[in-house]
Amino acid sequence: MHESRMLIDGVLGAGVSGRRFENVNPATEEVLGSVADGVAGDMDAAIGAARRAFDTTSWSADRDFRAHCLRQLHDALGREREAYRSEIIGETGSPKALTYATQVDVPIDDAIAWPLKCMDFFGWERDLGTAQFLGQTSRRIVAKVAVGVVGAIVPWNYPLEVTLNKLGQALATGNTIVLKPAPDTPFNATRLGRLIVEQTDIPAGVVNVVTSSDHALGEQLVVDDRVDMVSFTGSTATGSRIMEKAAPSLKRLFLELGGKSAAIVLDDADLAAAARGAVAAVSAHAGQGCVIATRLLVPRHRYAEAVEAAAAEMAAVPYGDPLDPAVTMGPVVSARQRDRVLGLIEAGKAEGARLVTGGSRPRHLPRGYFVEPTLFADVDNSMRVAREEIFGPVLVVIPFADDDDAVRIANDSHYGLGGAVSSADLDRAMSVARRVRTGVQRINGGNWYAPDSPFGGFKRSGLGRQNGLEGFEQYLETMTFGLPV
Ligand code: NAD
Repeated sequence: MHESRMLIDGVLGAGVSGRRFENVNPATEEVLGSVADGVAGDMDAAIGAARRAFDTTSWSADRDFRAHCLRQLHDALGREREAYRSEIIGETGSPKALTYATQVDVPIDDAIAWPLKCMDFFGWERDLGTAQFLGQTSRRIVAKVAVGVVGAIVPWNYPLEVTLNKLGQALATGNTIVLKPAPDTPFNATRLGRLIVEQTDIPAGVVNVVTSSDHALGEQLVVDDRVDMVSFTGSTATGSRIMEKAAPSLKRLFLELGGKSAAIVLDDADLAAAARGAVAAVSAHAGQGCVIATRLLVPRHRYAEAVEAAAAEMAAVPYGDPLDPAVTMGPVVSARQRDRVLGLIEAGKAEGARLVTGGSRPRHLPRGYFVEPTLFADVDNSMRVAREEIFGPVLVVIPFADDDDAVRIANDSHYGLGGAVSSADLDRAMSVARRVRTGVQRINGGNWYAPDSPFGGFKRSGLGRQNGLEGFEQYLETMTFGLPV
């Protein structure tokens, strides 16, 4: 069943303290089990193991062997699919329906397979030919090499998706890894550790998994000189702290952070369809997605119609037991997160936004960390509910005057991660979308998400990209050689 042990230097173990912490099911508030509570000594040992594996084995140089190990891992993950499905539902509260997509099946199918493919066609070396410098002719060769030891720090909302997309790319490019899952969702990571030990030839120390109830353990990865790169997905506040702490060592950083994205519905668009899409996005996994468009921007003259359409959709969101296949929205991950979401809803009311639907804990679900699907109207883009990432099932509707005004409001944010534009005229939609300073956008409901699509943000939404060739290259350094001819 659930794996409680960490993986350090090829060995599954309880950690130096021998203590454990509990993993709670957010839908039932029941304890699912417990997991090793790592301390500084465990992280130190894991970093040491990853460093040794990088410096003293052929892992980073032997592409064929790495590909062999990654194929084994891909197959092992596939065999574990159903175990992952129930475990992820249990520890994240994600609705089962989502596990057939981003939460489980997509990462299991793609997150290792795509970097494996990249290994085949990627230009690991290029010959620049000869060049003259001060009368000397030299040949230049550019080579791409692994960054080294990667500290991978993961959030709780889509833990398997984030973990595997870091792991696949980092390993394919020849790095070694210390993985630190979020304290709320450790089991998917410890299971991965067990799979690696029991079902792959990945050498000891190449992948280490350190679980802990203490967030500070993540910071050890940031300040330790033996770690070359931190690959972090999480909140902007933590990302910003990581950047600060990484400054003295100039550590390489990949930061996937928060968002407050806008769905722009132009005046010629199918408003009902756009409202349906916006509510579906904001309610899926109870709004705990960084890239969700949580601000619905609609033409002022169609404002009442838009609020009415969104309210009807909100009222119809099937939420509750994540195991029910018809449910699209479960609980948020913890009591702390629920209270944070409810606190921001109160802030919205206090600032004068009009609560149209939801706003509370649902009376019919006394157990579990549920929040009602919530809609705010009469929202001004300066309000906290329009500026801060709520990470709960909350949509705000904001009016705009014309296309320029819509772009201005969309861009009036510290974030720039996702977005959506709808219009009957695809060219018009694209010309608006190109002006929104954000990493990924849906145009008339189109989907950008795929393993070869770079995903990441502008501004305070982060640095770098997950997936795509851009993501692959991020785990590589560049070496340039000059040779005499
Ligand atoms: P968080 O920042 O609190 O924690 C994320 C991870 O960082 C956890 O593993 C945590 O233990 C660790 N951590 C906390 N403090 C740390 C520190 N000082 N140094 C190093 N590590 C530390 O975020 P969360 O609450 O787990 O996740 C929700 C947030 O993640 C949201 O803001 C969401 O937008 C963001 N997110 C972004 C993406 C993306 O791709 N852009 C994807 C998923 C989630």
